[in-house]
Amino acid sequence: MKIISALGCMLLYGLVAGQLQIAAAEEIKVYSVAEGAFIMTETIHKTEAEWRRILTQEQYHILREKGTEPPFSGKYDQNHEQGVYRCAGCGLDLYSSKDKFNSGSGWPSFTAPVAAENITTKDDNSLFMTRTELLCARCGGHLGHVFDDGPPPTGMRHCINSAALVFVADK
Ligand code: FE
Repeated sequence: MKIISALGCMLLYGLVAGQLQIAAAEEIKVYSVAEGAFIMTETIHKTEAEWRRILTQEQYHILREKGTEPPFSGKYDQNHEQGVYRCAGCGLDLYSSKDKFNSGSGWPSFTAPVAAENITTKDDNSLFMTRTELLCARCGGHLGHVFDDGPPPTGMRHCINSAALVFVADK
């Protein structure tokens, strides 16, 4: 019994330690809309407790728990202003209004990000589907998914949760 409970404690400790472990920052190249050029920046790593402190409950659920907001519920689906959509977690430029189109899906949709470098993709086999997940390249926040049924020029549809974005209108 003692051995089993000791093993249990070690396992629990391992899980807790794993949760607290934060990856080291890494230099990455991203596109800055304000600069009109690629810049170097560091990846952002925070504990889940830190993310909870700086994000709203909705943002936390989408970005850190890979949630999905209900269609037609987000504030940017029908936003037609000109400007840049940044990551709600870390402020990285992600999408431009120039690449936004009305997909009818109920989620803000874009044919492309401001630069391929600003997002990362990951295979997502949840919910009995094979999809490609989109994440912020700097903070790893979940943004949405990309599909190949978009309009020209790319034919891609980046289907993004409004709650993962912060819109900054052009001045
Ligand atoms: Fe981010």
